[in-house]
Amino acid sequence: MVVGVLGGGQLARMLALAAYPLGIRIEVFDPTSDACAAQVAVHHCAAYEDEAALARFAEGKACITCEFENVSVEAMRFLANQVAVRPASRVWEIFQDRLLEKQYLRSVGIPTVPFAPVDPQRPTEALEQVGCPCVVKTRRFGYDGKGQRVVRTREDYLTAVEQLAPHALLVEAYAPFERELSILGVRSLSGEIAVYPLVENHHREGILRLSLAPARDDTGALQSIATGYITRLLESLDYVGVMALELFQVGEQLLANEVAPRVHNSGHWSIEGAETGQFENHLRAILGYPLGCTAPRGVSAMINLIGELPPVERVLSVPGAHLHLYGKSPRPGRKLGHITLRADSVAERERRLQQLCREIGLMCHN
Ligand code: ADP
Ligand code: MG
Repeated sequence: MVVGVLGGGQLARMLALAAYPLGIRIEVFDPTSDACAAQVAVHHCAAYEDEAALARFAEGKACITCEFENVSVEAMRFLANQVAVRPASRVWEIFQDRLLEKQYLRSVGIPTVPFAPVDPQRPTEALEQVGCPCVVKTRRFGYDGKGQRVVRTREDYLTAVEQLAPHALLVEAYAPFERELSILGVRSLSGEIAVYPLVENHHREGILRLSLAPARDDTGALQSIATGYITRLLESLDYVGVMALELFQVGEQLLANEVAPRVHNSGHWSIEGAETGQFENHLRAILGYPLGCTAPRGVSAMINLIGELPPVERVLSVPGAHLHLYGKSPRPGRKLGHITLRADSVAERERRLQQLCREIGLMCHN
């Protein structure tokens, strides 16, 4: 059994690593010659516009999936004529565009911050709808905080619109959130759904640094709201695979920020921290197998390794630490690996996290 993955980054790499024990092989399609998944999977190195290469890639695959947001929808549609593509290309069209994404969320009754598309001829109209402070974002191609500006005044707003032009833009009200959370759900070909525990996420400079799973101090009320939202998304889209929903907690309310129609950085903890990891469950879902249990095994913290790598011995000296290196060369701001720390209690996780921070000189959360 061979599954094709569009994109050959760390998510494809971890899908491949989860596939081996199930006797599944992964082949990746990526135009960059040093794609890190190529170290563990067969690599088709060609442009996404190369239809002959796409047709060869589709041959003999049980199905095709995708590991990155900004996949070419044309390439997906082309592949879909030859082989099952999961999740379907329609899903990517919606979630590649922050405006269509927020409109979709609203259409299924999931709350978001107020937002409006920016008309380049009359930019202040959108500002009047959402007010200040607000966040100006490009509709497409943003990631890790790129392509967006937080603004506090009308003048700043007009400058941001000018700087981000000529891209199509939207503006959103700034969410006065207490914390950021995310929920991952998975739906299989047969319609079975499983949901992971709510995760608490800490970002710096627009990049995820630390995830705590399950999120702290939840009585179950937030989990139940988030489970309702992700279930509604999975069902309304007839979705197949893992999906992540990023959320802002404002008081007892959860506002949806964005959807990732794929395995997600805030689910990496689940490899060791849940009964079944997100990568295995994504494969189970798209191949029509029964889903694995998503219950946590103790509590976990996931620390992203960004820009530079700590000494391996130091990381491994911390009890409960599991190191994942992606085989990428260091570059500022680049995700090079992650560490999952597992523990039997929140207090033990805190102690281990402090120890890890001392060992590798990381900035600890609060
Ligand atoms: P991406 O993750 O694709 O870069 P996001 O829309 O998730 O884009 O924005 C990145 C981060 O910026 C969020 O995790 C959050 O910290 C902050 N942010 C984005 N939109 C808002 C908003 N409307 N209000 C407050 N903070 C925001
Ligand atoms: Mg985000």
